[in-house]
Amino acid sequence: MQRYADEQKRGVIRAAIDKVADRWTAKPRAPLKRTKLKSSPKTKAKKREQSKTVTAVRDLVFALDRACICGRCAPSLRDQMHELVSRAKTRGRPPKDRFSTANCVRVSPACHQDITERRCTVAWGDTRMANGTLTLTWADGRVSVYSRAT
Ligand SMILES: [Zn+2]
Repeated sequence: MQRYADEQKRGVIRAAIDKVADRWTAKPRAPLKRTKLKSSPKTKAKKREQSKTVTAVRDLVFALDRACICGRCAPSLRDQMHELVSRAKTRGRPPKDRFSTANCVRVSPACHQDITERRCTVAWGDTRMANGTLTLTWADGRVSVYSRAT
């Protein structure tokens, strides 16, 4: 009985060793390829148009907001543009409606992450949105009010 158990144990150990050895000796597989769908010329033109609009609006927004709207972060070349009403929610609308100084603000990467991960919420007072007064509320209870200098 003991002998059977010993053989059984050896067998299990052998199998485990073979499994590990297989992993090292197996031929490397080619990485899985993703099929990249080719955009139509119309889609390409649309994307080009949108990226032009985004760049133009970012320049405007960065001129209006001299730094991150939280009021704490120093201006940085790494600052980003945040859309108050997200791109996902405005999909299909003309770029001019999606990317405007009213809908976009300047944020630092850290604050942008706080906003997108909902540790900070940004509320606007009226239809002027970012061109009016914004209230930022953090999860820890901190509140700051931001208004673009005119
Ligand atoms: Zn900030």
